[in-house]
Amino acid sequence: MPSSLDLGIPSSQSIATVKAINVGGPSTLLPAAFFLEPVRPGYETMTAPVYAFFIEHSATGKRLMFDLGMRKDQEGFPPAIQQMLTTWRDLGFGIVVDKDVPEKLQEGGVDPATINAVIWSHSHLDHTGDMSKFPSTTELVIGPGMDTRTFPTTPESLLLESDFVGRKVTQLSLDNFVLTIGDYDALDYFSDGSLYILNSPGHQSGHITVLARVTPTTFVLLGGDSCHHMGQIRPTADLHNHFPCPGRILESLEDLSVSSRTTPLLSVPSGQSAYADPKIATETITKLGKLDASPDILVLIAHDCTVPGVIDEFPESVNDWKAKGWKEKLTWAFLEKDNVVSTRVLTAERSRLRIVTTLLISPLMLDKVRKGNQIIGLGIRTLTPVSVTLSFQPFTIGRRDFTFFPSSSRLRWAKGVYNSFLGSFRVLPGSTIVLGRPYTI
Ligand SMILES: [Zn+2]
Ligand SMILES: [Zn+2]
Repeated sequence: MPSSLDLGIPSSQSIATVKAINVGGPSTLLPAAFFLEPVRPGYETMTAPVYAFFIEHSATGKRLMFDLGMRKDQEGFPPAIQQMLTTWRDLGFGIVVDKDVPEKLQEGGVDPATINAVIWSHSHLDHTGDMSKFPSTTELVIGPGMDTRTFPTTPESLLLESDFVGRKVTQLSLDNFVLTIGDYDALDYFSDGSLYILNSPGHQSGHITVLARVTPTTFVLLGGDSCHHMGQIRPTADLHNHFPCPGRILESLEDLSVSSRTTPLLSVPSGQSAYADPKIATETITKLGKLDASPDILVLIAHDCTVPGVIDEFPESVNDWKAKGWKEKLTWAFLEKDNVVSTRVLTAERSRLRIVTTLLISPLMLDKVRKGNQIIGLGIRTLTPVSVTLSFQPFTIGRRDFTFFPSSSRLRWAKGVYNSFLGSFRVLPGSTIVLGRPYTI
């Protein structure tokens, strides 16, 4: 049976303690098509927790955070994000942060001031948290090639100058990733084999992940946003060998031919998606899948909806995952009924309103719509089958009403059972459009 050593992980007795903090996530459903394909009929939406991780280096007591979830105060975001969140909220999309990471740390007996470094997997708002709640002694570590432009110097930036100033900021250099673990370029963070940083771009340039040794022979891989659904890395031939898929799942999903598949069921969407570079993201996902097949490595991405309720969370540690059998519970959980893309609420009762909510739930898709500060059009991806209809209904974005004139010549229809399109619409003040299927399907 292949061991972790076969992946090129140097042997070591040095370990780190890893604790998972569930920071809270979107209070509404996310459109699966933005994160994966193909979307299985009936599973067009998904939920997503937001995990951040507290890490303590056993030899030195040094404390790290890998990601911070989202900050609590919306007014603390740079204007570009505030504007985006206002639009999201008005469209029915919300992220709930009852307690942020510093509060959760405090509650669990960890003074945020004792955190030596925060490592950002990447610069998205659900990972960067609120650096101002950490003292200037807390270093910020970011990946190679991450865009470090900040507001106000760059007005449209999604990062704040105050995230960086007054503290040591270390942008890792690819030159330092001198190890190879699996197929990843890796960096030995504490120089003792307890914690490796893996170069994992694709979702965003500079995206990095962490491989922590939690016992001398077992590891936790903190995968950030390398992928958003475990079907994007499973199954693989090696995974089948180590973790055979339970018969009841195979029977219930005969059409997917899971037992004979040696490549993941899902992939990165080919069109506009959550992945900045789909090709590189796919390469990173393949590397992740190779490590995921190891019986000695537990993969925990930031938004795996099958994880809550299975693992122990902060202030408990995840170090004993292997003894506790979590990998056996988690490996095929993404195929359990109701977990395929996690929820099927839209199947039977698709009212127009519901579809509209779904359509507009992800304003990430509403891009290329601004000219300066003015909204001039919308690009929208639908999650519904081909026969999407357009109709005019009162609708409000922000505090303004608009009319959206669909320009059918500009609609691009994708191929496949679950079609999507990106459309451009001229916007005139005073009236509006609703996109959706008028009746239940
Ligand atoms: Zn992200
Ligand atoms: Zn994320």
